[in-house]
Amino acid sequence: QEIIEHLRIEHGLSNVSFSTWIQPLKVYDVIETTVFILVNMNASVEYIEKKYLLPLKVCIAEITGTEYEVIFLSEDDERIDEIQNMAIEANQKKKSKSAAEKAGLNPKYTFDTFVVGGNNNFAHAASLAVAESPGEVYNPLFLYGGVGLGKTHLMHSIAHFILENSPKKKVLYVTSETFTNELIDALKNGKTAGNESAMSKFRDKYRNNDVLLIDDIQFIIGKESTQEEFFHTFNHLHTSGKQIIISSDKPPKDIETLEARLRTRFEWGLIADISAPNYETRMAILQKKIELDKLEKYNIPQDVIEYIATNVKTNIRELEGSLNKLIALYKLNNNATEIDITLASEALKDIISSKNNREVTPELILDIVSEHFGVSIVDLKSNKRNADISTPRQIAMYLIRSMTDTPLKSIGIFLGGKDHSTVKHGVDKITKEVTTDETLSNTVSIIKKKINPA
Ligand code: ADP
Ligand code: MG
Repeated sequence: QEIIEHLRIEHGLSNVSFSTWIQPLKVYDVIETTVFILVNMNASVEYIEKKYLLPLKVCIAEITGTEYEVIFLSEDDERIDEIQNMAIEANQKKKSKSAAEKAGLNPKYTFDTFVVGGNNNFAHAASLAVAESPGEVYNPLFLYGGVGLGKTHLMHSIAHFILENSPKKKVLYVTSETFTNELIDALKNGKTAGNESAMSKFRDKYRNNDVLLIDDIQFIIGKESTQEEFFHTFNHLHTSGKQIIISSDKPPKDIETLEARLRTRFEWGLIADISAPNYETRMAILQKKIELDKLEKYNIPQDVIEYIATNVKTNIRELEGSLNKLIALYKLNNNATEIDITLASEALKDIISSKNNREVTPELILDIVSEHFGVSIVDLKSNKRNADISTPRQIAMYLIRSMTDTPLKSIGIFLGGKDHSTVKHGVDKITKEVTTDETLSNTVSIIKKKINPA
């Protein structure tokens, strides 16, 4: 109604034109960015198209802020069956998307985008088998390997696969940090409310699943009450034949603070490791990324790709990061310099972490905070005040202050030019909150472990 009113006024339609041609139009369907409009029997589709298609498209774009295709249909149009099918398909796509979203999944992490090499073929095959027959083959599936080698990517692939092939299955993906923080909250709320409903909600959420994926289990370790609760969650799911998938940076036998009864259970199913990729696999991953991110247009020379694959060896996130950085540097120079080895070596400079003697610097801390919360470095350095950005920013201030001896003033400059008192306020706030807020304290200690792995 708003759109056709706009059309009437903007195009000065007379009452008779408006009531004859425009008012009787009916929206048949909107599929993605196409609007199908039914023209009633007495009017001519050709005429309306010629006279009103363009103005209508403009009005739709003005009112909705999105450009739509407009297709006029007569009531006996032969395309109507086809459109109905399209609508059903689009609807299903939307539904499966929202299921994947609900399950907390990255749409890019699927089996299709995962490059199989000697370093991960066993973990890949095990994951695919579990995805094809959840609860029937390896239960639990325990994936382990170093940082940035594809554990999370494989877990999301399994979840996507199951949701796509059996949309009725309930799939939940969480990090062990989320599991722990939600447990802490449930315990606390259960106490203050004086009833068990917070706890039973928590249990419902974790037990009422066909597939539960817990990422980075190493971070629940050492917390007795969490291990206890996870033990019961595990038993509940396992005895009812539900699939459990766990990832960690180490195999169960090497996780020192893991309770024996959990260790035994983790060893019941299949344990698969992912190791660092060899040169061929690194090349294949770079090629895949160029294809997926449509980077062909930059014509990155072969020797540059080989240079990156030769020098970034132990972390696929860094491998991808180097390529992103290369393109960013190229764009920053307004495409004036060429993409060559010199530019590539500059791109690699601030990405490769020499694992063993990795120095804890403000840059490293900011990188890890950014990745942990999924907030960009640009946002962390900005002045945005919404809590999902300002809390990570304050945590970064706190960690930089406590893990390096950077003065408050320099932290402010580093974080995009904040003044000394802003940084002090942030540091003080987090310092106080980690002593009172158990979930915040859990999150901060996980980030510390990521910065300084023992
Ligand atoms: P982890 O969870 O083991 O730390 P991730 O699963 O987050 O590692 O992987 C880090 C990055 O590397 C992600 O962007 C992921 O898509 C990519 N990646 C890892 N392994 C592969 C692979 N075999 N093929 C393609 N991309 C990969
Ligand atoms: Mg991960």
